Amino acid sequence: MSALFVYNKKNRKKILEKRDYYEVLGVSKNASKADIKKAYRVLALKYHPDKNKGDKESEDKFKEATEAYQVLSDDDARQKYDQFGHAAFAQNGGMGGGFGGFGDFSGFEDIFGDIFSSFFGGSMQGGGRSRGQVGADLSYDLTVEFEESVFGTEKEIKLKRRVKCDDCDGTGAQKGTTIDKCPHCKGTGQIRMQQGFFSISRTCPDCQGSGQFIKNKCQTCRGTGRKLSEASLKVKVPAGIADGQRLKLRGEGESGINGGESGDLYVNIRVKEHKVFKREGYELFYELPVNYTTLVLGGKVEMLTLEGKEELDIPAGTPAEKVFKLRNRGVQILGTSRRGDLHIKVVVHVPTSISDDERKALELLKQAEKKAPKVTEKQGEGLFDKFKKMFV
Ligand SMILES: [Zn+2]
Ligand SMILES: [Zn+2]
Repeated sequence: MSALFVYNKKNRKKILEKRDYYEVLGVSKNASKADIKKAYRVLALKYHPDKNKGDKESEDKFKEATEAYQVLSDDDARQKYDQFGHAAFAQNGGMGGGFGGFGDFSGFEDIFGDIFSSFFGGSMQGGGRSRGQVGADLSYDLTVEFEESVFGTEKEIKLKRRVKCDDCDGTGAQKGTTIDKCPHCKGTGQIRMQQGFFSISRTCPDCQGSGQFIKNKCQTCRGTGRKLSEASLKVKVPAGIADGQRLKLRGEGESGINGGESGDLYVNIRVKEHKVFKREGYELFYELPVNYTTLVLGGKVEMLTLEGKEELDIPAGTPAEKVFKLRNRGVQILGTSRRGDLHIKVVVHVPTSISDDERKALELLKQAEKKAPKVTEKQGEGLFDKFKKMFV
């Protein structure tokens, strides 16, 4: 568990030198998604490597803007950045670092496909490939134990999804047969229609845009090019993940059609409740029953922490309901090496049945006790204020 506490100095330096993402894009802290996208477009077009060949400064600016955009365009990531700054992504040394995901990070290509297809008329997709249909996204509900969510884990999941058919290599045509051009669109996948001065093209209804006509369909997949298959995948669940958050596994959804990209797999995390700890954000809470005598006289009691059973030192004269705050003993903050705190509230344990010895001792104590406690000034004031409010 010691790895949780490592704080990488190199990362820290990097973090301190980084420019604020909002500043990089030149937008305000409450800029809308559309504004952020617009700002990034302008910068991306200005500093795009294709336009500034060999210019190192432009390249750096382009990278910086892209990184800022990746974070600020993602609701989850933006929230984390607003809360923790660059430290939110420190562990992976910046964005896009290996982990199956902090919430929902889209990959680089996603953003590019999106931004540039609307800009350059889809030319980024590269001719023939743009024809392919992207596979469907899938979602999977994964329930993990409380401890697993706190310390992180790796889970194997099994799911059924449509993958490329091996028998026809995804073409949909029986092996050894040829694929003809769709006669309707002549293999272009598009039907052009003249409308006044404009020519509008739309997807060919006969071949659904594939441009192909398959006479001898593959028997395994009935010409669809895909078949249902059970897959087992390893999912890395990062330490600190909370109930309701989701992970994105790029390309692990259904296979695309006609060379289209695969969809993504979203893993919705469900965390089982712990029988003692209650979690709020990265803070942990629970109530620890303690004997009256221990509160009065002081003493050591057994407490539960995430690391197991430990001793809690209770000083003499500890008031009931006192909260002991154990710093850095809460849940690891997602994407950082810091942790929240553990709050333990001591409550007086009142036994419902007692032994004869206990009864004798308590009777003696009762006789020895001085007068009953009085209402303190502070409590009195509070009550009186409440009364006044009721009548005013
Ligand atoms: Zn097939
Ligand atoms: Zn066609």
